[in-house]
Amino acid sequence: MGKFIADLHTHTLVSGHAYGTIREMAQAAAEKNLEVLGITEHAPGIPGTVDPFYYGNLKAVPRYLYGVEVLHGSEVNVLNDGTLSLSEHYLERLDYAIAGIHCQCYEDAGRAKNTENLISCMQNPHIYIVSHPDDDHTPLDYEALVKAARDYHVALEVNNSSLRKPDKRLNCVENYRQMLALCQQYRVMVVVDSDAHDPSAVGDQSLAADLLEQFSFDFSLVLNAERSRLFSFLPPLKPHYEAP
Ligand SMILES: [Zn+2]
Ligand SMILES: [Zn+2]
Repeated sequence: MGKFIADLHTHTLVSGHAYGTIREMAQAAAEKNLEVLGITEHAPGIPGTVDPFYYGNLKAVPRYLYGVEVLHGSEVNVLNDGTLSLSEHYLERLDYAIAGIHCQCYEDAGRAKNTENLISCMQNPHIYIVSHPDDDHTPLDYEALVKAARDYHVALEVNNSSLRKPDKRLNCVENYRQMLALCQQYRVMVVVDSDAHDPSAVGDQSLAADLLEQFSFDFSLVLNAERSRLFSFLPPLKPHYEAP
């Protein structure tokens, strides 16, 4: 089993229920020998998260901190009308965006409609990852999801935090078993993320890695296992975040 060069889904204290600064997160990433750290604060819809105005000045942050390349993203909510909770104005400034369903701002609409809402968000060209598609509180049709990921160039996440607290995400292991089998069948990328809400969890991808191994998952489909694979999948990084 190879190791991961990037962790693309993490939160800092501005998300409202996370506890590190960008620098503390980057320092932790350096200690874990990660090359790339994606910071993806929650978009509006999650209580206490940052105002979107925040996304407009991330160019103030150096691209490299502690030798780690910092990417700026957002974890954007899928809403019940199939739209995203962050406007194009901000999405287009980010290096990439993640779409995810969160019960704080989404009401279960049944398997078919949940899947339709999520896929409608995946069609937005700024979305490159779906976070934690693993929770039967808002069940998904995995065949439809994986085919949409293939069609719209989106990687499906195996979320290490879900596996750390499996009582929170209903049937997550069984759902990942299904999703991963379909990803192999349709050759769809998966991404392994910590979803860290504290520096101590940055780069914590071990439970997800164990799961991939258990299911004999093809490591050539793991987006963040190789630098060239990651950067040929993501869009060109935004030049306004580079040092002048
Ligand atoms: Zn999330
Ligand atoms: Zn998250």
